[in-house]
Order: sequence, then structure tokens, then C-alpha cells
Amino acid sequence: MLAGALVGLPASLPAAASAPGTAASAPDAPSTASVAGAPAAAALPTEDRTPGLRYVEDVVYAVDLAGAAVHVTHTITLTNEVPNRVTDAYVERTYWPEIGVPVLVGATGLSARSDGRVLSVRTGDSNGYVVAAVIDLVPDLYFGDTQTVTLTYDLPQQPPRSGAAAQVNTAFATFPVFTSADPGLASVTVTLPRGVGVEVVGSPLQITETPDAIVLSGSALPDDFFATIVARDDDALVSRDLTFGDALVRVQAWPGDDVWLDFASDLLDRGLPALETAIGIDWPVDGRLDVVETVSPYVYGYAGWYDPSSRLIEVGDALDAHVMLHEVAHAWFNQGLFEGRWINEALAEEFAALAMVDLGMERPVPDGAPGPGQPLNEWGNPTLDAPETDEREAHGYAASWWVARTLVEEIGPEAMADVVQAAAAQRSPYAAATSDDRLRRVADWRTFLDLLQEVGGSADAEQVFRDLVVAPGEVPLLDERAAAREAYARLVAAGGGWAPPAFVRGPMADWDFAAATAAMPAAAEGFERRDAVLDLLGDAGELGLPVQEDVEAAASPGELADLLDRVEAAAEALVAADAAVGGANPLARLGMLVVDAETDLAAARAALRDGAYESAADAARGAEVRVGTATVVGGGLVAAVLLLVLVLVALVLRRRRGRGVPPPPVAWQGTPPPPPAAWQGTPPTTWRPGA
Ligand SMILES: [Zn+2]
Repeated sequence: MLAGALVGLPASLPAAASAPGTAASAPDAPSTASVAGAPAAAALPTEDRTPGLRYVEDVVYAVDLAGAAVHVTHTITLTNEVPNRVTDAYVERTYWPEIGVPVLVGATGLSARSDGRVLSVRTGDSNGYVVAAVIDLVPDLYFGDTQTVTLTYDLPQQPPRSGAAAQVNTAFATFPVFTSADPGLASVTVTLPRGVGVEVVGSPLQITETPDAIVLSGSALPDDFFATIVARDDDALVSRDLTFGDALVRVQAWPGDDVWLDFASDLLDRGLPALETAIGIDWPVDGRLDVVETVSPYVYGYAGWYDPSSRLIEVGDALDAHVMLHEVAHAWFNQGLFEGRWINEALAEEFAALAMVDLGMERPVPDGAPGPGQPLNEWGNPTLDAPETDEREAHGYAASWWVARTLVEEIGPEAMADVVQAAAAQRSPYAAATSDDRLRRVADWRTFLDLLQEVGGSADAEQVFRDLVVAPGEVPLLDERAAAREAYARLVAAGGGWAPPAFVRGPMADWDFAAATAAMPAAAEGFERRDAVLDLLGDAGELGLPVQEDVEAAASPGELADLLDRVEAAAEALVAADAAVGGANPLARLGMLVVDAETDLAAARAALRDGAYESAADAARGAEVRVGTATVVGGGLVAAVLLLVLVLVALVLRRRRGRGVPPPPVAWQGTPPPPPAAWQGTPPTTWRPGA
């Protein structure tokens, strides 16, 4: 997050020294010097800032955190090196009646001495950042004279949000360190209490530790010397803990700045869940997150920052909800989620704005379309001292937010959250419905663009990327991609709900468009063969999700061709079996009462549907064989039935004959009965039963 222009560049400082005066007098007359001008407040030149005046300076900054002040002492030794000009008529003498020393606005207790004598000090011109402490030199400094002046003052605590360059409180101090001396003639010493955290931003200083203090020092300083000191005693911060389920956020404020502590605590309490909801990913920080009030980032030109490795947000004293939520959003949006600074900045800024809407605040919007500037893909980490840094940073933040804002306007916050979730899961933008394809790499701008289009459904993303994201050298790649995506779209249409095989989707996701395009004809042929199989199957069967999965997972054209060979073989066997069963003759139908071909056929259909191609073919062939068997069995059945009928008939006939036969004879015993009385004729001599 950028705060604004980098503060305190040396060029913005007024001149150290007063302009000299000149006095003209007759050669033999006493000097009647007069001040030729007030101390000037001009920009510091890069060469000698005080021509004619040798300016030696030693500045000591004693940081007194407990006293919430920095005590400053300048020891300045001045020598007038401008010889008197002697002409026929007069002597022109250049002299310094006073000297202006730039001190930070807000300095108190200005006091100057020379040789044990108190000199008068007044404040002169100011540029709002520094003010000239104008010291009256006594006596005035004439050619050849040397005078040593000591200027002391304090940099006291300023109210938070006062914008003062020097911020000092019992937990924190920051102030710029600079000198007005001639190049190579300055030294600087900063003393701090031991145990305090120290950072030097800008020109380097040597750090040593004594038993009593931490000492930063530099000598023979170059004319462009400028450093900012940041000192902190975090133990002295006032903290408040916020809990969110298992998560803990510790808000740490400057002592006495309850306004900020309340602001930050309340905002985080409501804003963290709002961000979590908007992004759709659980709070990603493992362990405690610290949110610390500090103007350290301001020293670098930023409003705040987030360090994922130390789970630390440092944010300025401003009561800026967007900045605060932006930094918290970096808990999600950092190099672990997207590679490419601009993507994380863009999404942190936009999701912070979306969370603000959820909190009932006014939604911040970008100032307007960004002007021309560096492509976002070239927006790397800033080089702090580089002259173009300010402009690049400003453009980078503005343009990246503009991209995110424009796309959220188009696809909506939920779709953007889908894109973010897909990136977090490292899902392939060209995933198939049947697979869980992962890229297994952090998404970069390419994958982000793919996801915006494939997951987010954005139609505008490519043009937005062309306008603001890609470098000129990357444009041909986008052209190549556009052509490949057109061909890919035709392939998707041919797929009729089946995604192209992996051997096409993989190179598409890898932006290897040459490989993807080269593989597309094989994929198209695969879909044609599949369609032919479906035509062949008609009502005989179907290709289910497992077959789709196999086709979509094919890793090479050869694998797809082999797969389709197996599918075709199974389908052909199934169709043949289906025809055989459907076209069975009456005898076979009769046989199928005993020999079950339909079960085999159903098994074959199910196996093909489930992608068990060999089982399907086997079952189909089995069904066909059983139809043949059934014919034989059917014939056998008919024969068996006929035989049974014959047997039954025979039995019936035999039973009918059996009814005319007399009962079995009873063994004769005794005398035969007498013949019937009406018997006439000759009686039989023998009676034979059954005769
Ligand atoms: Zn940021």
C-alpha cells in the first residue's frame, strides 16, 4: 500500500546556511558592513551548499524513548574563506552575520551558544518540513575567522496523525537524519537505549553497542547523505487481543493513542470475518497475527505492509479502514497464493473494498482509469532510492486495483471469489469435470487470466490484460494463446460435454500452445470415433461417466487411440450380441428359457457403460454364444416335450387295455361246482380260466 510520495528527500530541504553579506568600504576607512540578505531557503545543491563558507558539522541525536523525545545537538564550525576584494577605491569584504540551520518543524527549545556565550536564535523560512534556525553570529564572521556554534533542541512527541516528520512516543521514534555541512565534513551520531529495535533507512550508518547504548554513527558524510531512523520498543506498546475461533489477532498501539487502538480493534473485529466471507477461504494465518501501529512503512512511502513469514502487519497511525483491511487481506493475498506482486495488491485492495461494503461503509473506488505507465507484469519490488520509484509505485497500485475493480464489475464478487478459490486450490483452469486436475504450482498472471476466463467466465479479461498487464514482449504470446483458445473452443464443442483429453488440456494450462494445437486433431478424431461408437450402439448401450473419464484422462494421442480401440471392440461385440439376442429364432427363444443370454447382454451393457471394455466384450460374446446354445437347447426341449407326450400316450393306452382282463384266478379247491341246471349239452371236462 502506497502512502504517497516518499518523504524527506534531501532536495526538499532548504539551504543550511545564510547567504553571506558584503560590505564595501574605502581602503582605509573602517568596515561599515551591512547584511546583504536574509537567510535563504533554497534547495540543497549537490555540491558545496555554502560556497565561501567552510561548514563542518557534527550532529548528535540522543533518543530518549522514556522521555518521548529526541535531544539534538549540532556542533558547527564555520570558517569564512572568501578573501576581501581590494580595489582602488574600496575593500569589499564578504561576511556572515548569521547562519540558518535547517531543523525539523516541531523542534522545541532551540538554543545556541558559542564560546560559552548564548547566541540569539530565531526561526526563519520553512517549507513545512524543516524550518531555518537562524543563529546570530557574534561577532560576524569575516574572512579568515573561524567560529564554533552549538545548537541544541528537542524533537518532542507530536500528536498522532499530525504528519510530523519526527514521531516520538514511549514505544516508538522515527526521525530523519541529515546535515548541512560541506561534503565530507559532517559526522552524525545517534544514541539509543539498549534493547530498542533499530532500523536505518536510506544512507547507511555504522551500528555499535556500548554497555549503555546502541550507537549509530557515520563520518565524512557525502553531500547526498540522508537517513531515517526507526527505533521501537514493542514491549511498550498497548495491546488488545481479538479472537476469531482459534485465531488470535493482537492489536498493538502507541501508548496514549486509544483512538487508533479502538479504531483498529473494532475494524478488525468486524472486518476479518467480512473478508473471510467475501474471499470464501478460511482465515489462513496459522498462529497469532500482530497488527502494530507504526509509521515505519511511511518512511518507505507506504501506508502499511504485511510480512507473512512473521505474521506481522505494520500500519500507520492514520484511521484508514481501506488501508487496514488491505493489509489484513494480504493474509490471503501474498506470494503463497499468486506469483506476481500486482495480482496480490489488486485483490487485496479490491476485496478490502468489498469487505467495507459488507461493513456498511462507503465503497472505495479507483480514482479513474490509470494513465500510461509500466506494464503490471514488470512491476516488481521497488528500488528505494531510484528516482522513478515513486511514479512506478503509484502507477502499479492504481493500475492493479483498476484491473481487479474492472473485472469484479464484469463478473461479480462471487465469481472473483471462485477464481481466487481455484487459484488457492491450484486447480487447473482447464480441468475436466471428471477429474481434479491440479497445477501444483502457485498461480501466476497466466493462470490468473486462464482462471478469470475459464472459472470466472470473464469476457473482458484478455483485453484488460493487454491494456495494463502484459509487457510488449508478451503480446505475441497472448496472440498465440487467443488462436489456440479458439481451436480449443471448437474442440470443447465437439466434446459435447466431454472435456478434451489431458494431452490437450495440460499444454493449454502450461501455455504450451504449440503442443496443445498440435495435439488437437488427435483429440478431435477421438471425439469423432466416440460419436461413431454412440451411433453404432444406438439403443444397445451407452458410454457412461467412466468412459468419459478415461477419454478426458488420456495422456497422449496413442493412449486415446488404444482406448477407443477397446471401446469400439466392446461396442461392436455388444451390438452383435444385441442383434443375436433380438433376432433369435423360436427355438432359441425357447432355449433361452433355460440358457440365460439376456443376463449376459445386460452385464455387457453395464460393463461398457462403466468402462470395463474387455469385460463388456467378453459378456457380449458370451451372450452371443448363449443364443446359439439356446437354439440347440430349444430343439432339445421340443424333442423332450415330444418324447414326454409319447410316453404319456403310451401309458394311457396301456391303462385302457388293462381294463378287459379278468381278475387273477383263485386257486381251485374242492369239488367243482355242479353245472348249471339249464346246462345242456356235454359238460366241459376241463375248465380253464381266461379261455
Ligand atoms: Zn498491499
